[in-house]
Amino acid sequence: MDSIIKFENVNFRYEDSKDLAVNNVSLEIKRGDFVAVLGHNGSGKSTLAKLTNSILLPQDGQILVNGMDTADESRIYDIRQTVGMVFQNPDNQIVATVVEEDVAFGPENLGVDPREIRERVDAALKAVEMYEYRQHEPHKLSGGQKQRVAIAGVIAMQPECIVLDEATAMLDPRGRKDILKTIRMLNEQLGITVVFITHFMDEAVCANRVIVMDNAEIIMDGTPQEVFSKTGDLRVAGLDVPQVTELSQWIEKEGFGISKNILSTDECVDMILSILEVQKG
Ligand code: ADP
Ligand code: MG
Repeated sequence: MDSIIKFENVNFRYEDSKDLAVNNVSLEIKRGDFVAVLGHNGSGKSTLAKLTNSILLPQDGQILVNGMDTADESRIYDIRQTVGMVFQNPDNQIVATVVEEDVAFGPENLGVDPREIRERVDAALKAVEMYEYRQHEPHKLSGGQKQRVAIAGVIAMQPECIVLDEATAMLDPRGRKDILKTIRMLNEQLGITVVFITHFMDEAVCANRVIVMDNAEIIMDGTPQEVFSKTGDLRVAGLDVPQVTELSQWIEKEGFGISKNILSTDECVDMILSILEVQKG
């Protein structure tokens, strides 16, 4: 089975609402992929996230996680173990007064053998570079560190997929950067499928696939290159392109030939340096 998450014509409406929060969404997420989901406030991202592990159930259509129907109550346990979730507010995710106990909470609930829990907790804390804080009190850590502890708690349950719902939204730039580095490592080295929901455009460039939601629907879906080249469509969805992309498009409009869309700061610097070289020469 190639896809880990599959939505087929999914509709979801909250009880007290007349509008759909997720409107006819069909979506397949491949195992091992790193998918960024973008969209302005209220576009349906969190609803989409909660549908992936049975926190919410669709009114129409079907959602399969590793082939398991999220509406099948007998599979909820397996589904939640397959898709782990990290939320926006790190303070709401702390359950213990010592970091390592916090990380152990998930696997304990799964009934994992205590010796294995020890191994998993250590490995998870090392993976997020929080091992030396294992005896610390979580509430005294920075936002970014708390979020990495929350991620360790999810990894310790050995999910195949992690969904992060604006997990960097409350962090300072340093904390955001550390989280991004961590999830890239999880994806590249541990092969965990990542669904990274964010409203920071620049964070989406490290994904291999970018999905844009607007008004409960998926309106764009492609590589970062493809999606960010459609500046107009992004603006319509209430989003901006990454600053470096905007700068490079402006430079191109000014008559300098640029071979491709610039997505990272490094590429942008290289591009500007090469233009300066040409100007000098
Ligand atoms: P996003 O995460 O992109 O900000 P959400 O999925 O939270 O979007 O919200 C999608 C739509 O559903 C919005 O119109 C929002 O107001 C509505 N909504 C979200 N949560 C609830 C809820 N618990 N009850 C009723 N409506 C909700
Ligand atoms: Mg949200």
